[in-house]
Amino acid sequence: MIKGNGRPVYEGVAIGKIFVLSKDHKIENTRCADKEKELERFKDAREKARAELDDLYEKTKREIGEEEAGIIEVQSLFLDDLDYIEGIEDMIKSGRDAAFSVHEIGDAQASAFAALDDEYMKARATDIRDISDRLIRILTGSGQAFKMEEPCIVVAEDITPSETVAMDKDKILAFVTRQGSSNSHTAILARVMNIPSLVLTNIDIEPALNGREMIVDGFSGTYYIDPDEETLRVMKEKRRGAGEYKASLEMFRGKESITKKGRKINLFANIGSPDDIKYVLDGDAEGIGLLRSEFLYLGRDDFPTEDELFNSYKKVVEAMNGKKVVIRTLDIGADKKVGYFNLAEEENPALGYRGIRICLTRPDIFRPQLRAIYRASAYGNVAIMFPMIISVKEVKAIKETCEEVRRELSEEGVPLSPVELGIMIETPAAAIISDQLAREVDFFSVGTNDLTQYTLAIDRQNEKLDSFYDAHHEAIMRSLALIAENAHKAGIWAGICGELAADLSLSDEFIRMGYDELSVAPSRILELRKRIIESEV
Ligand code: PEP
Ligand code: MG
Repeated sequence: MIKGNGRPVYEGVAIGKIFVLSKDHKIENTRCADKEKELERFKDAREKARAELDDLYEKTKREIGEEEAGIIEVQSLFLDDLDYIEGIEDMIKSGRDAAFSVHEIGDAQASAFAALDDEYMKARATDIRDISDRLIRILTGSGQAFKMEEPCIVVAEDITPSETVAMDKDKILAFVTRQGSSNSHTAILARVMNIPSLVLTNIDIEPALNGREMIVDGFSGTYYIDPDEETLRVMKEKRRGAGEYKASLEMFRGKESITKKGRKINLFANIGSPDDIKYVLDGDAEGIGLLRSEFLYLGRDDFPTEDELFNSYKKVVEAMNGKKVVIRTLDIGADKKVGYFNLAEEENPALGYRGIRICLTRPDIFRPQLRAIYRASAYGNVAIMFPMIISVKEVKAIKETCEEVRRELSEEGVPLSPVELGIMIETPAAAIISDQLAREVDFFSVGTNDLTQYTLAIDRQNEKLDSFYDAHHEAIMRSLALIAENAHKAGIWAGICGELAADLSLSDEFIRMGYDELSVAPSRILELRKRIIESEV
């Protein structure tokens, strides 16, 4: 039995077979004994890759949209690209092994594309790398190209948003990664999907792990590979206990979230993509308090178009069937980097060109988003929220742009519904001037993840600072109280959408402060509702 540990990002116990999501293929410059046979193997690999991409195309089209699926189609085209294919075949004919030939030619062509000036051609470098990776995986048998036959525990260096799109989420029991942080994409996804997961583990990732039995204990942060019988028995018992706890929360499904003294709290969910809607409905959320738009921009080669954004937003808004959907405009920058934004390297990215600062200086990025959101407003109950605000001046500029966009759409005859405009309070500056900001907007939502980072001057991604990071710090509690007080003085509502909103030890305090809404991972709703219904406050 191998025992190791990492940082738990979502509790629960998972027991299942390991699926190694491997991108590290050890490619050796070996000669092949039979060139004809090697050419035949390469041909078969191409056909397999084509079949995989066809499946992936259909899945992406169904789950995300036709335009995103176009990225997959472009990759398919390389399977018939003469330069690429003949280059590989020539190398095999010179006596090299097929995987090595794909690696060499793929690398050379990707570098050539990356060196071009044209942005579109530059982006093709990633496509060549992706398709080469896929072919190598098929040729070497390492990894199974996301094809999990049964529910598995996914073990990886890290997991990118585009990889999560390709995964069959119903077949994932847990994530175990070497990298990541409590706020990484893997962590957010685990919470949304309601599966135990560990990041920053010390696991040795190798293809030989595939298919071996693993236990992930998301309570203690421990994992076991090839567990002995006693460990298996204890962990099955722990899993049963966790299952019973979950089942006991079922009685709170469909109930109103009202405290014993009659305070109604809106229990909303945080999500990243239309894909997550099923978790929101499963979790019994009363609305969506934070749709992180940046996930619609991650894992792709170019900006989403207005229509793509509109379709994603519309899907979410329609699925919520009249319940409120708070859409946050994109918060790219800092930890969420996207290549095609071409953002310069920064000394202090968390204090840099991010979130609303990009939107306010790049109307070509901001306006299509706003148009898409306003267009989606006709299909339900939409509110827009802006991240990283520090001044009244920014809010005034945002409101002006919103008004222009609204007028423009209305002149085009596009149907629109009323839209609330709110801001995230996640900088100390915004908390301190929340009295002034409250007069400008319809609501506040406190981003405690960033508010804590900026108030305590502690990088939220840096695990070395964990012992200094105190989410319950008096400075944060006082800020939270001030923000709610200033919101209510101005007659607007206030919510919390950072991770702290799910902290059950603070629920009473938040209710006392007067918060109207708590927005948490969908999997947290029922236990929070229980807490609120049982609250004496
Ligand atoms: C926050 O900062 O608390 C927040 C909700 O936003 P994000 O985690 O996306 O930065
Ligand atoms: Mg934030």
